[in-house]
Amino acid sequence: MSTLRTVCPLNCPDCCSLLVEVSEQGIKVQGDLRAGVSGFICAKARALGDSVFSSDRILYPWLKNQSGWKQISWEKAYDILAEKISQTVARSGSQAILHLFDSGHNGWLKNLDRRFFQALGGVTEPRGSMCWGAGYEAQLRDFGAVYSSDWQELLQSKLIILWGRDPAVTNKHLIPILRKAVEQGAQVVVINPLQCKSAVFAQEYIRVNPGTDGVLALGLCYIILRERWMNFDFVKDYVKNFGSFVPLVREYPPEKAAEITGVPIEVMESLARRIALEGPVMFY
Ligand code: SF4
Repeated sequence: MSTLRTVCPLNCPDCCSLLVEVSEQGIKVQGDLRAGVSGFICAKARALGDSVFSSDRILYPWLKNQSGWKQISWEKAYDILAEKISQTVARSGSQAILHLFDSGHNGWLKNLDRRFFQALGGVTEPRGSMCWGAGYEAQLRDFGAVYSSDWQELLQSKLIILWGRDPAVTNKHLIPILRKAVEQGAQVVVINPLQCKSAVFAQEYIRVNPGTDGVLALGLCYIILRERWMNFDFVKDYVKNFGSFVPLVREYPPEKAAEITGVPIEVMESLARRIALEGPVMFY
């Protein structure tokens, strides 16, 4: 048996350090306590050994035609791709090729596709995406720059709102920090259509009808504006287009927002008051 040090290849910013035991029985993946975010890894990485040797793993190229999927050899797959790429470049130039890609596996080999297409003369690539791209664009429009708070700032918060997220499943390394924040007196509120795993250690779980949390946000804004709980100096100095935001908010008084979202008015009023008056607040 040998033990190798490596890093988690999954599409996750934590980049955990791993120790991989390789033996005749297979591979066993553990967190490397000497490095990494917190020295422990999530279930997805622990299961990497199973997926490497899974009988469901796709080991060969498959070609889809009118009669369905058919397994082909690697040579055949390369021949098909080379022919189509050569034909397109000869007919219209390399930029007539659209290279669609996103993150996925984060190993070094992942970058070879772009190197290949650059060497070919450059191809057309998409800008933005429904994943990070949409998030970046929203942050740019909302805040003027793409900055995120440091996790440690959760420890300065009095109210932490996990809005549509379930870090107990998707962001394990946040959990010790959240627990510490709770020990220091922070309240954790979970807003989610499902009573997700993170709701277990939150002080409050607010169930919202699927797809209506935007209305919930507008209902909260309505209450904050109505009660004049907002920081007028901050809005005057830093907020653009506030005048065109207010009419939108006025369309969602709490009665209407409650009917759409399923969140009772008194729950909205309590949350709006804590957001406005009992900060610092962290939306996560
Ligand atoms: S949290 Fe899990 S998926 Fe993310 S880097 Fe660590 S082991 Fe990999």
